[in-house]
Amino acid sequence: MPDTHTKTAIVTGASRGIGAEIAKALAGDGFAVVVNYAHSADKAEALVGEIEAKGGRAVALRADLAAPDGAKALFDGAEAAFGSVDILVNNAGIMQLAPIAETGDAMLDAHLATNLAGPFRTMREAAKRLKDGGRIINFSSSVVGLYQPTYGAYVATKAAIEALTKVLAKELGPRGITVNAVAPGPVATELFLSDKSEELVARIAGMNPFGRLGEPVDIARVVRFLASEDSGWINAQTIRVNGGMV
Ligand code: NDP
Repeated sequence: MPDTHTKTAIVTGASRGIGAEIAKALAGDGFAVVVNYAHSADKAEALVGEIEAKGGRAVALRADLAAPDGAKALFDGAEAAFGSVDILVNNAGIMQLAPIAETGDAMLDAHLATNLAGPFRTMREAAKRLKDGGRIINFSSSVVGLYQPTYGAYVATKAAIEALTKVLAKELGPRGITVNAVAPGPVATELFLSDKSEELVARIAGMNPFGRLGEPVDIARVVRFLASEDSGWINAQTIRVNGGMV
């Protein structure tokens, strides 16, 4: 029998990295959390175990959000588990780097499917199914604003997310649903660290005044606030969470 009292949050891509930290934070705040993943079943199940061990409620749900039916399947699963959905955190994403001249169609298509079409479809489901007064928190990147070489495919999808955030905020405002985005700077996760030399990581870490990479918890704290009642008058914004990397 689904629980219709506890508020429910879907966190896409929550098996590891920033999403896993967000899932833990929201569970700690009393949300029933849907831990979505595409491939990392073991990590997602382990995270659910960790949340439950602390008295929280969570379920792991596999849904490949790059596939056309992924978003609907995710919401169907979330409603089956917890009755209804209050919060959508659109965190799942991929990043591969190459100059535009060397960006093949497969790489471009993967970014468009995972980072743009996927969140578009979860936003569409949320627009139809989120409870009034809910929250949508999208994921951009501080690369929007910096526009460094090799980020072409990735930044195109993230700039589009910032645009969609503003449009959907206007569409859902009358129902008391806020739509915001966070745009992290570099965060020490697999997405950022893979394929980078120690020297390059150190150079990028030096691009903010604190001289360090972000940690997943730096981002999760902001998402936690945006998911809370206290953020109710913040709407249609993109918050750059990057330690001052400008
Ligand atoms: P990670 O690579 O550490 O984790 C990515 C997560 O997304 C995993 O849980 C993965 O699940 C999931 N995922 C990937 N593809 C899909 C898919 N098709 N369907 C469902 N889930 C999927 O990334 P981060 O935690 O670093 O990034 C999280 C978000 O933050 C992304 O949107 C990223 O663009 C953004 N960001 C990250 C920055 C950074 O420096 N790390 C900087 C700026 C923005 P699975 O393992 O099951 O595939």
